[in-house]
Amino acid sequence: MPENTTPRPHPETIVTHWAEDPRRYLGAVVPPIFQNSLFTFKNSADRAASCVPIVPPFEEGSDGETWVPHHGYEYTRVSNPTTDITEAKIAALEQGARARCFGSGMAAISAAILSCVKAGDHIVCVDTVYGPTRTFLSSYLPRFGVTTTYVDGCEVQEWADAITPATTLFFLESPSSVVMKQQDLAEVAALAKAHGITTICDNSWASPLFQNPLELGIDLAAHSATKYLGGHSDIIAGVVVGEDARMQRLLTDEGCLLGAVLDPFAAWLLLRGLRTLPIRMERHQQTTQKLAYALHEHPKVARVFYPGSPDDRQLALTQKQLRGTSGLLSFQLKDASLEAARRVVDSLKYFAIGCSWGGFESLALAMTVPARAIDEAGNSARHLLRLHIGLEHADDLWNDLDAALNFMG
Ligand SMILES: *Cc1c(COP(=O)(O)O)cnc(C)c1O
Repeated sequence: MPENTTPRPHPETIVTHWAEDPRRYLGAVVPPIFQNSLFTFKNSADRAASCVPIVPPFEEGSDGETWVPHHGYEYTRVSNPTTDITEAKIAALEQGARARCFGSGMAAISAAILSCVKAGDHIVCVDTVYGPTRTFLSSYLPRFGVTTTYVDGCEVQEWADAITPATTLFFLESPSSVVMKQQDLAEVAALAKAHGITTICDNSWASPLFQNPLELGIDLAAHSATKYLGGHSDIIAGVVVGEDARMQRLLTDEGCLLGAVLDPFAAWLLLRGLRTLPIRMERHQQTTQKLAYALHEHPKVARVFYPGSPDDRQLALTQKQLRGTSGLLSFQLKDASLEAARRVVDSLKYFAIGCSWGGFESLALAMTVPARAIDEAGNSARHLLRLHIGLEHADDLWNDLDAALNFMG
């Protein structure tokens, strides 16, 4: 193994210590919430010296004086010390140079996309992408002369075939969040690089714990931090991570101009959520793997959609690019009707009915997808049950699921 003299700490250590300097905050072990819009200065000269665009967060140099000279903060739409800590941790977890938090996952995703396109450009996007991302690409961007082609995306050749002279962006989401389809991130990134095309990957499903798109050559990783990064179903937040120059442009333009910043209190809650990200993901994975196998064996179940499960049709890719799996899975009943799916959802006790995921609590939803999304022929829709497996005990969740499935008769 090549020796690295300054190895980046492991995720558990990053969420605990990275980018924190309690000396700056009277020794407070939890960084304060800087719930202020602006920052003031000792005098005009200090302000002028401090007006570098955005300083890297928490460089050494605080000498314990109450007045920190050249603090580099001016206005919270540009930067905020609480948010900076959160961003530095997420950048480190995601193996990127820089992260920028946004007021929601959609604010992060739309900002990342807008940073890559101009009038006349063409985007190639995975067909199973998150619904509102698709609406942004299909209904909103055409107003500015930007068009999108959708590909199933499982084969790299489909991406190659969709490239036109105007293509500037590939948008990936792997695994996707209803049928958990994956794209080969390294191969698609290599293809994009060869054509001067930028790549963005929505990495919300795997979280930075189990997949790092940047390491595989993707240019920008985006997250709905509302999901696993926050983890407590109490904030709406988003984040984009990438290398320095690209992130600096995104910060100055889409970040500061469009201004969809994360509120400092939400950034603080996100920081609090991150503390337990590694142990939460470990437990989500452990319980969900158990349930995916049990569902696969269940006589009422036709097919399970979960990377690494016995029904995984992309197992080689799962083993190649995912280090672990999260708590979101879907399954199809042998009774393919929407009524059957709804009956199961409605008779669950511990699973709340709700559309989000990534929090501590288990959720269930009957969902409808086009047949092509699950590689079945025909035009009719298919009904799935999507589950988010929370942090409850696996046995309680399985007993609940088994009872609901058997209740169907
Ligand atoms: C929820 C979600 C988003 C959007 O995030 P918000 O925080 O709700 O704006 C984006 N991508 C995926 C895969 C999601 O599940």
